[in-house]
Amino acid sequence: MKIGFVGLGIMGSAMATNLIKAGLKVTVWNRSPDKCSPLVDLGASIAASPRAAAESSDVIIAMMATPVAVQSVRDGDEGIIAGLSSGKGYVDMSTVDAETSLESFRMAHEKGALFLEAPVAGSRKPAEDATLTIMAAGDWDLYDYSLPVLEKMGKKILFLGETGSAARMKLVNNLVMCGMLTALSEGIALAVESGLDTAQLLEVLDSGAVANPMFRLKGPQIAANKEFPAAFPLKHMQKDLRLALQLAEEVGQPLFVTATINELYKKALAENLGDADFAAISRIIRNT
Ligand code: NAP
Repeated sequence: MKIGFVGLGIMGSAMATNLIKAGLKVTVWNRSPDKCSPLVDLGASIAASPRAAAESSDVIIAMMATPVAVQSVRDGDEGIIAGLSSGKGYVDMSTVDAETSLESFRMAHEKGALFLEAPVAGSRKPAEDATLTIMAAGDWDLYDYSLPVLEKMGKKILFLGETGSAARMKLVNNLVMCGMLTALSEGIALAVESGLDTAQLLEVLDSGAVANPMFRLKGPQIAANKEFPAAFPLKHMQKDLRLALQLAEEVGQPLFVTATINELYKKALAENLGDADFAAISRIIRNT
């Protein structure tokens, strides 16, 4: 199977690398072309445009930052849709709103192609280790066909039904994750101000009912309060909070805590923390 891969950011680069290492023939494209070089060194070909990447592949995968980024590689004369035809598949693994996915589904079908949304849970390391959780929805036939490819990137792969359900599930997942991370940041801030030992706090948390891998990973970083190199950029988490609140508005579900956390993340963006890891939200909490 020939694969096209568009969007070589933190996640896309690691995921495409795993496809190449698994022996698949991969053609890549990225807005900033320099990010293609490491993949070419591993054996990938470069396409001149998203359209060319789609034309040269059976399945074209996209891993873009935002709904606007999805549109910019999907639409227009040089976009993915222009390179689709009957028998091809378009798999969008970006975290976007259901409306963006439904539009991609509609446009792919107009060209006689199939569409799958497949956002992921798991950050830089799980992407490198091919241990992502992949939430897929859309055309079952494309899911079935591309499953061996998804298995090269993830360890838990779920089919959730009609287009839009995976996009919504991913936003709910991130809402929960962000709430937990914010609570941890406040807990560490209070521990510091109360003269408690943060290493002991993390030990207490890790031995009780709230123990989880994210606290284990991010806790020491937040306690140290020094560097926050991006595994999951804070600006993307704020995008996910915004999209979750938009979904909540659509279905009439109040999100009291998430709305407040979103304001904290907007403050972090205003303080130029957008490219830091989302755990850098603790800087805002400690400074208030
Ligand atoms: P990233 O490192 O910021 O990469 C984003 C990609 O989108 C890059 O290829 C970037 O191109 C491209 N892009 C951005 N705006 C564009 C535009 N207007 N036109 C064309 N290309 C554009 O992001 P990431 O961390 O890999 O995340 C990718 C997606 O996965 C996001 O939806 C994110 O929410 C989701 N996600 C991330 C993580 C994580 O831990 N990082 C985990 C799960 C899900 P350039 O290289 O030219 O900037």
